Amino acid sequence: MASSIRKGKNSEDIQEMNRSLIIRILQQSKTISRADIAKKSGLQQATITYIINDFIKWGFVEETGIIEGAKGRRSIGLSIRSEKYKVISARLVRKYFTLAVFDVKGKRYSIHQYKIDSRDELKNILACVVKEIKAVKENYANDKILGVGIAVPGPLTKRENSIVYFTGFSQWQNVDISQYLENEVELPVYLEQDANAATLAEWSAIENHNENETMLCVMVGQGIGAGIVDDGKLIRGKLGIAGEIGHMSLEYDGPQCECGNCGCMDFYTSTSAVMREVRSNIGDYPNTALNSESTIADILEAYRKNDELALKTVNRAARYLGYGLVNITNIINPGIIIIGDEMSKAGEKYLNEIIKTIKKRIQESVFKNLQIRLSKFEEDTALIGVSYLVINESIKKPEIFISNT
Ligand SMILES: [Zn+2]
Repeated sequence: MASSIRKGKNSEDIQEMNRSLIIRILQQSKTISRADIAKKSGLQQATITYIINDFIKWGFVEETGIIEGAKGRRSIGLSIRSEKYKVISARLVRKYFTLAVFDVKGKRYSIHQYKIDSRDELKNILACVVKEIKAVKENYANDKILGVGIAVPGPLTKRENSIVYFTGFSQWQNVDISQYLENEVELPVYLEQDANAATLAEWSAIENHNENETMLCVMVGQGIGAGIVDDGKLIRGKLGIAGEIGHMSLEYDGPQCECGNCGCMDFYTSTSAVMREVRSNIGDYPNTALNSESTIADILEAYRKNDELALKTVNRAARYLGYGLVNITNIINPGIIIIGDEMSKAGEKYLNEIIKTIKKRIQESVFKNLQIRLSKFEEDTALIGVSYLVINESIKKPEIFISNT
């Protein structure tokens, strides 16, 4: 996203913004000359020389030798010593948490998943997270760890850094998660709701995007949530609950949900819903490859192989998702909808069922101006998203890049 220098700032603020802008440019290039940084940033050569000298002194940037620039001009290449700067990303879901280590350019160094007992108090679960983060800190003791990003199932109040409500998990509410972690791990901790984190990753990955674009990023996993971007900004709402589409009613007299509503989208579209449907219908499909122990991965595999029970169940979930997306499209009129998380692994057949449903139920002109696709990320987008969050926040305080080695 383009940065601009606002008027009325004092010179320290401006220096900080200029540093951030240069870090952003360095982060996006393998090696780059001072002249090309000047061209990309619009900053004066003298400003760049001054800032780069600081970065080199800090051990953050190094000169990489002569590179061939525009018009065959030879100049000295600059590169971030990205391997020295790590980010710890964590994601908490109902049954496990994941911990990964990325460098400042997004290369992943490790990833581990830990089972949790979700009936446990959140503080006990966070104690496990703390233990593993401390172990990672030790493993990377020679590197600079910029901070910890943690994606949690929403919705989240940004003001109090705590989960507002989470179906079936009242014991996870009202804990200031970042404060608790920060005290324990002694690193800056940034918290984001998982769908918003994934949205940040998806938004950053769109090439040539129009900054005015309205985007909806739907995460269909054990629960369902969405991030909404409009004019380059995440829409959060008053409490931070915007995008909590899992609690949108698709059947007004459907089963009662803990949120107070009935027939919530979660009941029909999530992986938990798909697994429940498979188990309750299994008796009617003697030829199915599935059984009552089948995991969501087994079900999606059977779906790709056209297993009758898997087809019936997953297509039903896709249609319900389509019904919900029609409602949302009529409210926010997105130009692009991206479907991610576990259910998106069902692939093109699943996507086509969703698209078919939407097409049938929405005005032609709206449909024609709507792109619907699956996430292109192979990895967990919420994890990647929180790593971007840490980097974005660190860039606002460039001194954090001062390395001790
Ligand atoms: Zn609900």
